[in-house]
Formats: sequence, C-alpha cells, structure tokens
Amino acid sequence: MGLKDFFNIELKCSICGKTLKSGDGLTAHITLPSEKMMPVGRMDRVLSKFADKVYCKKCSE
Ligand SMILES: [Zn+2]
Repeated sequence: MGLKDFFNIELKCSICGKTLKSGDGLTAHITLPSEKMMPVGRMDRVLSKFADKVYCKKCSE
C-alpha cells in the first residue's frame, strides 16, 4: 500500500462493494482492540482498518 493509498482509504461494503460515505448507514463487525491499540481518528478510516466486516444499510437488512 503506497502513501497515496493510505490517505485514500475507502470504506466499502463487504457484500456489494459499495463505497460508504458520510451520511450512509452501515453495520460493522468489529473486534475491540487492546487499550494500547485503540484507534483514534476519522471513523471511516478506523473502520476500514479495524472492522472485520462492514455492510451497507441495504445489505444489512
Ligand atoms: Zn452492500
């Protein structure tokens, strides 16, 4: 992953591949990191890094 990609991480639905943007509803399966590893930052980036699975609203219904 290049530096450019790092700043352009897209949060995508694990089923349909739809890119999730601000205002979109989503369901995420996430493993709570240890206290030392606790992520801080933009939620979409945190989710794209830590979530096991992310589903858009349509796929999670
Ligand atoms: Zn979807």
